[in-house]
Amino acid sequence: MPDWLALYYDDPIEISHGEGRYVWDSAGRRYLDFFGGILTTLTGHALPEVTKAVGEQAGRIIHSSTLYLNRPMVELAERIAQLSGIPDPRVFFTTSGTEANDTALLLATTYRRSNTVLAMRNSYHGRSFSAIGITGNRAWSPTSLSPLQTHYVHGGVRTRGPFAHLDDRAFVEACVADLKDVLGHTRPPAALIAEPVQGVGGFTSPPDGLYAAFREVLRDHGILWIADEVQTGWGRTGDHFWGWQAHDRSGPPDIVTFAKGIGNGMSVGGVIARAEIMNCLDAQSISTFGGTQVTMAAGLANLTYLLEHDLQGNARRVGGLLIERLRAVAAQLPGVREVRGRGLMIGVELVRPGTDEADPRALAAVLEAAREGGLLIGKGGGHSTTALRITPPLSLTVAEAEEGAAILEHALRSTY
Ligand code: PMP
Repeated sequence: MPDWLALYYDDPIEISHGEGRYVWDSAGRRYLDFFGGILTTLTGHALPEVTKAVGEQAGRIIHSSTLYLNRPMVELAERIAQLSGIPDPRVFFTTSGTEANDTALLLATTYRRSNTVLAMRNSYHGRSFSAIGITGNRAWSPTSLSPLQTHYVHGGVRTRGPFAHLDDRAFVEACVADLKDVLGHTRPPAALIAEPVQGVGGFTSPPDGLYAAFREVLRDHGILWIADEVQTGWGRTGDHFWGWQAHDRSGPPDIVTFAKGIGNGMSVGGVIARAEIMNCLDAQSISTFGGTQVTMAAGLANLTYLLEHDLQGNARRVGGLLIERLRAVAAQLPGVREVRGRGLMIGVELVRPGTDEADPRALAAVLEAAREGGLLIGKGGGHSTTALRITPPLSLTVAEAEEGAAILEHALRSTY
């Protein structure tokens, strides 16, 4: 395996199995999983409804996803198209978030006949050659040889940088001025791509209204708006089904990309765009594994469970309690600068006490201590690691939220 894999922990964990919000390692130790929700499982590990659908479909047929009619794919596409709010929508399935964003770039650049793209500073959009080319987060950008002309604009990060001291209104004004300035010096861009909440970047998000203001400017120039919902989709942020809804009440983006938890571990990614954009390609294009019957069966069962059990509402309620509980802890610890987030997408920013400086070593210590206590959490941030990332499956119970918060509190207190 390559050296550049990003294994967690000094002594990495081998995960053996899971159930609901818990996983077990190969030595039989149980952990509450406060991170897996953003990686693979939206609804919970080994959800019987999904496992059954996958098993039944795998026992029936897994064939070409596109050369022959594929009922589960059409059914899932119809469900997603309807949920998207995009007019006259078309859905194309991929195997990952990277491939979804790659496809979005293919569409936007072809539609607009331009390989100039705007992206947010500090962003993460995937690991392919073109997705790296729109990833502003240097820590996850292993090449600079992108075929795209990318210009990065301000807005995704409010914790640090030249606009950090501004209030919401002034921040929006400064970022819009920055965008206009960039537009004054570039070739006409194809699109602006943004994560409604920056995921790998540490769950920072612009104030509501920034992206709406961006959109007005973009519309004037005919520039497409791509929302990368790979982390924020399907109700994770609690108040909204899609992350973009928190920012832009003026209507859905031109293109939406999704992936991660929607297949509950099966590789379901995809792109939604209105027909005019989706159909701008002038040659055939398929994906052998994108949209196979078995991954689509998983997506359908998972989405049905999510909607029938109102897991978005659960994310809002339980996430709200968790944020409140963690803010109470943060108020007593000078190293915890901020608890931010929406629903079950919660970032905890750590600093060296008494300073504004990031503290990656303390963060690593908290991660290790939480693991010792039986809790898995994530880490993230811009050019260095600055925040803990908390993203349990959306089915998290109040008791589990309390259990996780207690372990995390102990880990923070033993570090600071
Ligand atoms: N976009 C965002 C916002 C992501 O967080 C990720 C994964 N971390 C990706 C795209 C890439 O997805 P994948 O790893 O499935 O290729």
